[in-house]
Amino acid sequence: MNLAPDSLWFSAMFAAALLLATSLRLWLALRQLRHVRSHRDSVPAAFAEVIDSQAHRKAADYTIARQRMGMAHNLYGAAVLLAWTLGGGLRWLAGANASLLGDGLGAQLALLGEFALLASLLDLPWEIAQTFGLERRFGFNRSTPALFAADQIKGLLLGAVLMAPLALLLLWLMRASPLWWLWGWLAFAAFSLVMMVVFPTWIAPLFNRFEPLPEGEVKQRAQQLMQRCGFALQGLYVMDGSRRSAHANAYFTGLGRARRVVLFDTLLRQLAPQQIEAVLAHEVGHYKRHHIQQRLLLSLGLGLLGFALLGWLAGRDWFYAGLGFDHSAQARQAAALILFSLVLPLAGVFVSPFSAGWSRRHEFEADAYAASHSDAGALADALLRMYRDNASTLTPDPWFVRFYYSHPPALQRLARLRPARGAGA
Ligand SMILES: [Zn+2]
Repeated sequence: MNLAPDSLWFSAMFAAALLLATSLRLWLALRQLRHVRSHRDSVPAAFAEVIDSQAHRKAADYTIARQRMGMAHNLYGAAVLLAWTLGGGLRWLAGANASLLGDGLGAQLALLGEFALLASLLDLPWEIAQTFGLERRFGFNRSTPALFAADQIKGLLLGAVLMAPLALLLLWLMRASPLWWLWGWLAFAAFSLVMMVVFPTWIAPLFNRFEPLPEGEVKQRAQQLMQRCGFALQGLYVMDGSRRSAHANAYFTGLGRARRVVLFDTLLRQLAPQQIEAVLAHEVGHYKRHHIQQRLLLSLGLGLLGFALLGWLAGRDWFYAGLGFDHSAQARQAAALILFSLVLPLAGVFVSPFSAGWSRRHEFEADAYAASHSDAGALADALLRMYRDNASTLTPDPWFVRFYYSHPPALQRLARLRPARGAGA
């Protein structure tokens, strides 16, 4: 293969970005490791009454183990990325695919499928190690090998059923129209909106059981809260999260008529009714402060930028050649999609301080909403209980927080909730 200067230039840029992103991630992980380790043996004063030293040490050990695994996974991911691109992995796969199936739309779709399957197989050992190694070691895993295998197979089939039509449409558009990226983005936007309704209603129930919240104090409090907030909710569900994990959570999902609040059964067992009400008020706060809509708009806007960038890159020979692919080879459209999906995540670590900071601001706003429509003290107690039971560290490294934390660290969140207690809100 003859490499033109602009391809070499792009290869060098790509290698530099990979090196920079990987070093930055490792540096942040090392900071977090060191910070948590150095605070392992003393509970911060603000939590001394409610978190005992054993729970504090467990949270530190769990965080450290996760960081270690994350660092190894990171290096592995960088090696796999190099193998797919400069190592010629994709060129080889596309060649084998073309010699069997040719260059039709079907063959290109097959190449996308083969790549997705190989990529998930390459990552499978890590998922197994995390679920049955790390999570089990700290007593969080509840999944069995049979359930895990069923989840993987269901996930792959579902991915194929949902993504194949979209991918086929995209491949066809790429050949049919120079403005394909704009049509492609419209299709992506429509798909995202439809999924917001389809996911909670039909897809999530394939993996978990959802039951309406049973009658009782929790439901009564929830209904009164919704009335107080002027919030019409279509559904309040309990999910059997305990089937897979002991981690507890609650989330808001769906759009319009399909919107619902989902509480993990683990959360219902851990928290008192008043605390659950406060957690629900926090979730309602996300909705009332328009966070859901803002996030959706941002993702559609970034999607448009992404498609425009892809549309431009897909027309440059150096984009393919610079990433180890023969630009005159067959399956050029499928290769453009795959290479873009491989390279784009490199930007993630540089964008994450902005998106994480934005998300943390939303969490403060939702907490403030909960404090004024429910009980700040109850929310603080609920958070503490969740920090303890999920073994979340109370002493994260500030830089690690800046880059990665979608939720403010415990100390900051509680400091804002505690003074509000008893203030007559
Ligand atoms: Zn939140």
